[in-house]
Amino acid sequence: MSDTQSSSAPAGNFIRDIIDKDRAALKNGGRVVTRFPPEPNGYLHIGHAKSIWLNFGIARDYQGRCNLRFDDTNPAKEEQEYIDSIEEDVRWLGYRWSGLFFASDYFERMYGWAEEMIRKGLAYVDDLSAEEIREQRGTLTQPGRESPFRGRSVEENLDLFRRMRGGEFPDGFRTLRARIDMASPNLNLRDPVMYRILRAEHPRQGNKWLLYPMYDWAHGLEDSIEGVTHSICTLEFEDHRPLYNWFLENLEGVHRPQQIEFARLNLSYTVMSKRKLLKMVQENLVEGWDDPRMPTISGFRRRGYTPEAIRDFCDRIGVAKVNSTVDFALLEHCLREHLNKTSPRVMAVLRPLKLIIDNYPEGQVEWLEAENNPEDPGAGKRSLPFSRELYIEADDFTLDPPKKYYRLAPGREIRLKHGYYVTYLNHKTNAAGEVTEVHCTYDPASRGGWTQDGRNVKGTSHWVSLPTAVPITVRLYKHLFTAENPGQETGDFLDDLDPESLTVLDQAVGEPCLAKAPPETRFQFLRQGYFVADRYNREGAKPVFNRTAGLKDSWAKTKDRQGDAG
Ligand code: ATP
Ligand code: MG
Repeated sequence: MSDTQSSSAPAGNFIRDIIDKDRAALKNGGRVVTRFPPEPNGYLHIGHAKSIWLNFGIARDYQGRCNLRFDDTNPAKEEQEYIDSIEEDVRWLGYRWSGLFFASDYFERMYGWAEEMIRKGLAYVDDLSAEEIREQRGTLTQPGRESPFRGRSVEENLDLFRRMRGGEFPDGFRTLRARIDMASPNLNLRDPVMYRILRAEHPRQGNKWLLYPMYDWAHGLEDSIEGVTHSICTLEFEDHRPLYNWFLENLEGVHRPQQIEFARLNLSYTVMSKRKLLKMVQENLVEGWDDPRMPTISGFRRRGYTPEAIRDFCDRIGVAKVNSTVDFALLEHCLREHLNKTSPRVMAVLRPLKLIIDNYPEGQVEWLEAENNPEDPGAGKRSLPFSRELYIEADDFTLDPPKKYYRLAPGREIRLKHGYYVTYLNHKTNAAGEVTEVHCTYDPASRGGWTQDGRNVKGTSHWVSLPTAVPITVRLYKHLFTAENPGQETGDFLDDLDPESLTVLDQAVGEPCLAKAPPETRFQFLRQGYFVADRYNREGAKPVFNRTAGLKDSWAKTKDRQGDAG
C-alpha cells in the first residue's frame, strides 16, 4: 500500500450508514433511488463530479437507481447548450443514468398539488411585491409580519391562482405563498413563496408556462415523483429540510424521500460557483467553459485529466459533514498515479536548439528501439529515428554551467536518451551572441545509451531527430488564480487571476508518432510532463498539445515531509 492510500478517507461514509440502516429496516422496501439534479444554467464543475460520484456510486453499490434530472425551473438562466454538456460530462465521467428527467415535465402535477395546498388552507395568493415580502420577513431575532392577504378565502385564492396561470397579471404582480408561520425561528418557514409569475421562453416548455415554481416547493415534489429514497444535497440546504418535509407531509398519497446533506467540495486555487465561472467566460478571461484551466469537467477533460483520476480523487476525499478546502495537489496526485501507469512515453522538445554530430555520417538514419512505458511491459516498443542533426532542449545546454548542472556544456559528455553518448565540440552564435547550434561528436560504441567500459555520464537529454521532427504547438498552464482562496484577501476573485496562467510554445517539435495522434490521446513527454492532444486538433493542421500536469508531485512530497517529521 502506498502512503497516499493510508491517509485517504474510509471506504464507507455517514450517508451509506444511513442507507444501511434504512435497508435493514426495509424502509422503501429496501430500495435505493438517488438522483443528480443539476440546474442547466452552466457547465458542470469538479464539485458536481463529487455529487455525481456520490449519487451514482450509491445506486451502483446498492443495486439501486440513479436519475439524471434537470432542475429546469428557472427559464431565465437555462439553455439547451448546458443540458447537452451536462449529459456529455456525466457520460464521460463513466456513469449511466437510470432515467433522464426534466423537472419542467412535472409542472402540471405540481400545479395540481398547489391547488391541493390552497384547498387545505395551506397556501394563499399574496399581492405584496417581492421587496415587501422581504421587508416583512423579519430577522433571526425578530419575527416576520403577516401579509394583509394571508386571510383570503379558499375560493378567492383558487380563483386568483388560476388567473395567475392564465396570464391575467404582469410579471411579479402576485405570488403563491405557503401559509406556515411568520414567527418561525427558521426563516425558510415564514410563508415561503411557492410560485411567481415570469414570462420567459423556457428551453423545453416554450411559452406554455408563465407561472414558475420556486426551488423549495419544486425539489421535494420532483424527488417524490421519481420515488427517490435518499435525496442528497449540500449543507446549505440543511435549514431547508423542515420546509422540504412540510410540503410533502401536507400532501396526500405522495412518496416521501429523505433529504441528507453533505459538505460541498472546495478546491484550492479554484472558484467553483457557476456564477463566477460564467463571468470569466462572458468577459473572455478564458477561452470558454472548457478552457483547460477551468475547473469544469469539460475543462479538465480538455486538459487531459482522466475520468479514472477524478473518480479516484472523489474516493479519497470521501464524504464530510463539515465544509473544507481540498488541496489541488491531491487531485494532481491522483492524476499522475493514473497517467504514470497508462501514458506512453515519447520525446518532444519544447524550446529547440540544434545539435549536430560532426562525426555521424551525413544522410544516415538509424532506427533505435525505445520502450513505450517502463511502468507497463505490455505497452511494447517503438522505433525512433536517429540522425546527424537533432534538436535538444535549449536549457539542456549552457556555456557557463552553475553548480549541479549536469547537462551539456563545453568539455562535457552526456547521454542522448535511447541513443548515444555525445561530447561537446564547439558551438555557433548569432549576432546577438545567442547560441544557435551546438556541435558534438558521438561514441558509436554507446548505442542504446550505455557503454561496455562502464564509463558513466551524469546528464541525459531527450531529443528529436531533425529531418523527421514534427512541428507542434505546446500549451503550458498554471492555476488560473495565484491565491489559494481567490477573492478572500482582495475582495474580488478576479483580482487574483494570474495573467500568466497560459504559455504557448509554437516552436516545439516532437517525434514522428505525434503527427497522427488522434485528439485526446495522452502522452508523457519525457522530462516535461503529461500532455494530451487537444480535443480540437484537426487532421492536416499543426497539432496542439496541452500540458495536463508536470512530473513533480508536490502532494506526495508534502506527505513525505510530514511523515519524516512524525
Ligand atoms: P453552483 O453553486 O456552483 O452554481 P449549484 O449547487 O447551484 O452549484 P446545481 O446545478 O444546483 O448547482 O447542483 C447540482 C447538484 O450538485 C446539487 O445536488 C448540488 O448540491 C451539487 N453540488 C454543486 N456544487 C457542489 C460542490 N462544490 N460539491 C458537492 N456537490 C455540489
Ligand atoms: Mg443551484
